[in-house]
Parts: sequence; C-alpha cells; structure tokens
Amino acid sequence: MYIRKQRLLTPGPTPLYPPALHAMMASDIHHRTEEFRNVYKSALADLKEVYGTQGDVLCFAASGTGAMDASVSNLFSKGDKVVVCTAGKFGERWAEIAKAYGLDANVLKVEYGEVVTPDRIEAALKAEPGTRGVFIQASETSTGAEHDVKTIAEIVKKTDAIFVVDAITGLGTMPLDIDGWGLDVVIGGSQKAFMIPPGLAFMSVSAKAWKHADKADLPHYYFNLKKEKKSGDGGESSWTPATSLILALGEALKYIKKVGMAHLIENAQLLARATREATGELGLELFAKRPGSSVTAVRAPAGMDSGAIVKGFKERFGAIIANGQGSMKGQIFRMAHLGYFDFADMFGVIAGLEIILRANGHNVELGKGVAAVQGVYEAAKSAPKLAAA
Ligand SMILES: *Cc1c(COP(=O)(O)O)cnc(C)c1O
Repeated sequence: MYIRKQRLLTPGPTPLYPPALHAMMASDIHHRTEEFRNVYKSALADLKEVYGTQGDVLCFAASGTGAMDASVSNLFSKGDKVVVCTAGKFGERWAEIAKAYGLDANVLKVEYGEVVTPDRIEAALKAEPGTRGVFIQASETSTGAEHDVKTIAEIVKKTDAIFVVDAITGLGTMPLDIDGWGLDVVIGGSQKAFMIPPGLAFMSVSAKAWKHADKADLPHYYFNLKKEKKSGDGGESSWTPATSLILALGEALKYIKKVGMAHLIENAQLLARATREATGELGLELFAKRPGSSVTAVRAPAGMDSGAIVKGFKERFGAIIANGQGSMKGQIFRMAHLGYFDFADMFGVIAGLEIILRANGHNVELGKGVAAVQGVYEAAKSAPKLAAA
C-alpha cells in the first residue's frame, strides 16, 4: 500500500486553511462574554472589509441556502412579482424558494451551460415595471458558468427591484463591487472561498434592500435580518452562534486580508485559466459557454462516463472532484479553484487527470496538460501572492 493523501478538490466544501482549523479547538468558550463578543465583532468587521461594502453584512449559523431563504422571507411579500434567473441547479433553488414563499416568479430559464443574458432581464423588467426583485447566481456552480453581474446590476438599479445575488461561489473568484454596481443582497457561504467548514452563511444588505424589508410581510423567525443586524452591532448573534466556525472564520479572514481579496480572486482566475488551457490541450471540451473561475466544468470524452474520472481520482489519488449534478451527472466533471488552492495543487490535478484519461482509453500524451498549467504559471506577470500559511 502506498500513501494517498485525502484531497478535497470540490467547489464546496473546499480545502481548509490549517490555522483556521486549529482555531476551532478553542471553542470551549461562552458566546455571551466580552471575550467572544470581541472575536465576533472583529470577524464581522473583517467580513465587511472583505466583502468591500459600506453597507451591512450579516452572518447566520446555516449553510448558504439559509441566507437565500432569509433574503426571500425578509425582503418580500406574498404575491410579489420577481424575476428569477435559472441557469443550473442553484438557479432552480431560487425558483423553488420563491415558489415556497408564494412569490409570483417570472423564471428566466436557460439550458445548462448557458447564462441568462442582460437583455432578457431588461425586457422582463420593462414588461413588468412592478417587479420587486431579481434573483441570480453570480457563479452557477453546477455548470461552471458566470453571469454578467455588473451589466445586469446597471439594469436592475434603474428600477424599484432589488438585485439579490447568490455569490456563494462568486465571492473570492470574480470582482463584485457591491456598492459601486448596486448589488442589494450578496450571499456567501463559509465552505467556499472562505476556506473553512460548512455552517455559516453571509449576506450583505443595501439601503434599498432595507427599505424592502420595511414593507415585507412574509413570515419568518430564525432568520430575522433586522434582529441580526441589531445583535451584530452589539457584538452578538441573535441565537447561539456556531462558535467554532466563528473562531475559524476570524482566522481565515485575517489570511484573506493579508493575501488581499483582489489577489484571492486573481488566484482563482489564474488557476481556472490554467485548467481551461490544460483541458483544451487534452482534447476536452468546456461545459460552460461563459466559464467562471470558481470551478471548471469539463465534458468527459465521447463515450466515457464522467463518473469514471471522478472514481479514478478517488481510487488512485484519494482526491474528490465533483461529478455533474442532476441530468449533468455522468456527462461532466468539475475541478474547483476557489479559496485555498494553489498552482502546486493544479499541477497534481492535471497530471492525475492525464493518467486517468489514458487508463480509460482517451489517449493523451503525458505532460501535455501539465505543461499548459506550467505555461500559465510562468506567464503570470507576478506569481499569485498567496502568503504561506
Ligand atoms: C454551494 C452553493 C450554494 C449553497 O449551498 P449550501 O449547501 O446551502 O451551502 C448555493 N449556491 C451556490 C451557487 C453554491 O455553489
């Protein structure tokens, strides 16, 4: 038997930043103490800095979907007209949440791998001037596609609708100028570019969104934005916080600030570019028409089930990559770049991919993909400035 290290190469959960993991061991702490209030306050302040907004940023003990749910239940009323952009499994989640709460949703759906274009959203808003909200994924993790958030924001900004962005894999992988572009709600999750385990959801709230909250009448209890804002201002959370995760978050945010959000984004972008070039060299096709940098979705070669590639990574290298979800299962495989990934990871992933492809009858020349990654590394004007842990 040889050593096979376990590696998480999925777009959530992502590899953990070791000092954040170690920080979790100090969780024998009470949350209603000065000591914890200081930790919580500084984590919220750093979160706001990393989000890059002057608006409010809230934190919930929940997976990312909790904040998606909260954005609907706190900012809308039953029967409100909304536009829901659906380009994959996570867009479908928006449509399901809107339906669960009785919103009147105009679902703009596209085929998996495509994106909803700004002109379609503009037309939908023109046709229904009473629209109260527009929902989208910045990065649709199930297909690897990225929406043109900036252009869409310019359109939504001119209307009474608020722009609610699931940026759970968008944060840290693409620029998102919350205040400059007018993004009213931007949702994040701990297990993505934040490099810590699942269990925390984040959400920025603009002044325009708070005005919506004043008029909203949908029932909610656990996720109460106004209460959470008040609690957070006092260094506390409304309910018992996930203390261990808050300790981890504090540590990870210090690191993200040290690296710089712009460099964290550039890091993901470089790794994504390297992956696109490598898979191109290996004769593989990308799944998304407008690929983002959180994850690269690649079509398996004709006649090969993508599950064989996923299985190959697990069995040969102890590594977990993602299969396609839903009807994309067996068709595509997905390699992540968000958060704590570096070029050395990428060299290994592509080298492993070459071996697995050959073992499954797709004959590629060994080293061709790896050389493409090395080329991107060398061409990068400055190597990504990921500080050593
Ligand atoms: C991971 C993810 C979510 C959140 O899923 P949870 O399992 O609730 O954390 C939502 N949207 C996108 C785009 C994601 O990648």
